[in-house]
Amino acid sequence: KAEYAFIGRSNVGKSSLINMLTNNKSLAKISVKPGKTQLVNHFIINKEWYLVDLPGYGFAKVAKNTKQRFSKLIFSYIESRTTLINLFVLVDCRHEPQNKDVDFMEWLGVNGIPFSIIFTKADKLSKQKLKDNVIAYEKELLTSWEEMPPYFISSASSGLGKDEILNYIEETNKKISL
Ligand code: GDP
Repeated sequence: KAEYAFIGRSNVGKSSLINMLTNNKSLAKISVKPGKTQLVNHFIINKEWYLVDLPGYGFAKVAKNTKQRFSKLIFSYIESRTTLINLFVLVDCRHEPQNKDVDFMEWLGVNGIPFSIIFTKADKLSKQKLKDNVIAYEKELLTSWEEMPPYFISSASSGLGKDEILNYIEETNKKISL
């Protein structure tokens, strides 16, 4: 069964996004405390694919060895998943490119893990500011990549990006099952 995983720094809006995609508020609980989602949750959607909620990285308030333990867990999970078709890396559209995210994408590239980006909380910015921030990200990534990975703009409060992301999952899933 094909697997699509979601990852991002704490508070990026991952639970809200998964809720939006699954249309079920009880599936992924919105965390009040950043870094609360520390278990790997699987959401079975249909017979062909399922969504995986990976723990957030960047636990600002936990000890360093705890951080390392989590990164190890995440990295080995990602590396060992032969059924992982795409990893969605979530970034808050309001922030300029963060080293942590960029380094993580670098690591994904080196390890040949297919990923795409989701810019979250789009409702918090004007169209122009959003565009500027996406361009800033693009610039940052294109220093080491030849092209921008696929990316999506989402808002859990307006539903923006939902159909596009679900279509992308369906389309990539069709390709692999051929
Ligand atoms: P997680 O820690 O990455 O799972 O983030 P959550 O989904 O728990 O969201 C963190 C905070 O951001 C919560 O207060 C959410 O209500 C808020 N949030 C998440 N997505 C959006 C969004 O698309 N728009 C707005 N305005 N707020 C959001």
